[in-house]
Amino acid sequence: MRDRRKRTLYGVLGMLAMITVLALVFAGVHLAARALYGLIGWQPPLLLGEVLNSLLGILLFFGLMTTIMVLFRSKRLREQMQIIAPILEALQAIARGNFDVQIEHDYRGHEVELFSELVTGVNSMAQQLKQMEAMRQEFISNVSHEIQSPLTSIRGFAQALQNEQLNTSERAHYLAIIETESMRLSKLSDNLLSLAALDAATIQLDCKAFRLDKQIRGLILACEPQWSAKELEMTLTADEVLFNGDENLLSQVWGNLLHNAIKFTPDGGTICVTLQPCTQGVEFRIVDSGIGIAPEDQERLFERFFKADRARNRALGGSGLGLAIAKQVIELHYGTINAESTLGTGTTFTVWLPTTAAA
Ligand code: ADP
Repeated sequence: MRDRRKRTLYGVLGMLAMITVLALVFAGVHLAARALYGLIGWQPPLLLGEVLNSLLGILLFFGLMTTIMVLFRSKRLREQMQIIAPILEALQAIARGNFDVQIEHDYRGHEVELFSELVTGVNSMAQQLKQMEAMRQEFISNVSHEIQSPLTSIRGFAQALQNEQLNTSERAHYLAIIETESMRLSKLSDNLLSLAALDAATIQLDCKAFRLDKQIRGLILACEPQWSAKELEMTLTADEVLFNGDENLLSQVWGNLLHNAIKFTPDGGTICVTLQPCTQGVEFRIVDSGIGIAPEDQERLFERFFKADRARNRALGGSGLGLAIAKQVIELHYGTINAESTLGTGTTFTVWLPTTAAA
């Protein structure tokens, strides 16, 4: 409203200025012509004099106006170019892959809002691209690291196997290491493929109703050789739960939580699994009496490639992707996953899934 009144005021003032200039030009032409006629000693007839004065006045007025407009336009154009140039430079830098750009601006004038918005947009785009690039670099370096260590092992033991003096048990030991490291590589590749599929914006869950309690019981039985070998006491308390979700993806979640509990619980420890309906959903809980996780590591557990204790993990195997995959799968089902842990005492993972899960 205020803007409109301002514009009307500027319009009226502009008109008054033009009329004043027109009057001044005509008066100036009249006086100049009179002086000229006096100088050359010739006085044109009245009508011819008036016509000549008017023509000269009009020509002078339009000439003056055109000059003013050209000067004003080129000044505005120069000002606009001064504003646009850094924006263009920034966009060119971004196109070349340099995301370290930040446009400083201090605009005045009536285009302020438009240009400020443009600059803020470009700055925030550069910031986001920079973050994504940093994440991409970190991801590549993590993947390379995870691939490099088993490959180094495999190459080393393959070379050692060429020694003909090795006895049968040494040979068997080296071959077993090569097999374990190859399996680690294969698991890493599976996990990376799962993550890529889960990251795809177009992922479609293959949802159908199935017995969640049966699935968990089946997984516990399938890994019995591992928990029996460590003499772990495994208990399951599960109510009958019919759940609508992606059976395969959820199986990966429970499998990962179970394997972690077995892996990080010393021999003779306990693992308790419960599954029960709760407020508007179902709750899965796995409690182990294992090594636990330090408070500062608990916040990073669900990050890709995070391992709480790298040295120990190297011996136990694992790429630090399992919990990241679990979190992604649970979130695709609109659920939540949390960990509580005390170092040296044990860890509890709790998953909540809404019964009106992803369609
Ligand atoms: P990994 O393949 O290394 O097990 P995860 O993403 O499944 O990867 O787990 C990430 C890290 O979280 C593990 O390396 C481990 O340090 C920690 N962790 C996960 N579960 C447990 C657990 N039950 N007890 C102790 N630490 C755990």
